[in-house]
Amino acid sequence: KAMKKYFPITKGFFQRTVGYVKAVDDVSIHIGPGETLGLVGESGCGKTSLGRCILRAIEPTSGETKFRQHDGTMVDITRLDSKSLRAIRRDMQLIFQDPYSSLNPRMTVLNIVGEPLVCNNLASGDALKERVRELMELVGLNSRHMERYPHAFSGGQRQRIGIARALATNPKFIVCDEAVSALDVSVQAQIINLLQDLQAKLNLSYLFISHDLGVIQHISNRVGVMYVGKMVETATTKELFNRPMHPYTEALLSAKPIPDPRKKSNRIILAGEVANPANPPSGCYFHPRCPYAQDVCKKESPPMVKVEEGHYAACHFAGELSLRGVDQL
Ligand code: SF4
Repeated sequence: KAMKKYFPITKGFFQRTVGYVKAVDDVSIHIGPGETLGLVGESGCGKTSLGRCILRAIEPTSGETKFRQHDGTMVDITRLDSKSLRAIRRDMQLIFQDPYSSLNPRMTVLNIVGEPLVCNNLASGDALKERVRELMELVGLNSRHMERYPHAFSGGQRQRIGIARALATNPKFIVCDEAVSALDVSVQAQIINLLQDLQAKLNLSYLFISHDLGVIQHISNRVGVMYVGKMVETATTKELFNRPMHPYTEALLSAKPIPDPRKKSNRIILAGEVANPANPPSGCYFHPRCPYAQDVCKKESPPMVKVEEGHYAACHFAGELSLRGVDQL
């Protein structure tokens, strides 16, 4: 339903060396309250640009982002003036990839976490301190350390500080952009658990961007797969991992490390490089690398079609090919 009702997002820009690039090409997504949509794809496929367009951290070239407010009314983020946009940004936040560079090293944790409250005139003085203390405890940090600087904290703790800052204004929707990618595996698991606990407690919706399929499988209710700026498949996590309908998803899944080494590895080696978004191939962008490509694939761009309830894929042969999920590999 969401796909028909809203204008999809496109983001194009000029890059000096390569020319006009469509980083996001006609993409529609829908995220419900308390839901996590995972976004996967190789680097440069447009995941980050899409996340930023949705928040209007960068301006989409076309398309709209409808956001349901606390009172139930829908607002189109792309049409707001800067004042209304600032107000609604309290409800939509971004957690960055790198906890080492995203926190200002010259600010104390109190100032880092409290800044969004100060900027929005939401708290000051003792009330501010009290709220920061509450936020630090919420993310599992010792609130007595609020006068310390970021360098005094480990990578995982810094990411907790970033999360506390993102939560300061009581948002409903958070874009987590590679939020755990820079962390060690054991710390990753702790931060993912924290994000899940917070989601349950605060009824948060996440757009969770990651190139790591294991992380995506663990945290997402539904998954979207992007290739060269386009969404090529969306489904519930279970469906997507067990029964991929797009050959690119199949190839991505086959590259996922196999937890049980006794299982036979049956990896699909993708021929060639990711297509150049400044000069994409004709027809289906995936055709030069697709083991199932036919003549029609070179000529016609496949539309996103519903293969099953809640499962969409942009492939001329979606549903006809028998692809292998991770379980069958
Ligand atoms: Fe492969 Fe053709 Fe499907 Fe594209 S449309 S993914 S080239 S089979």
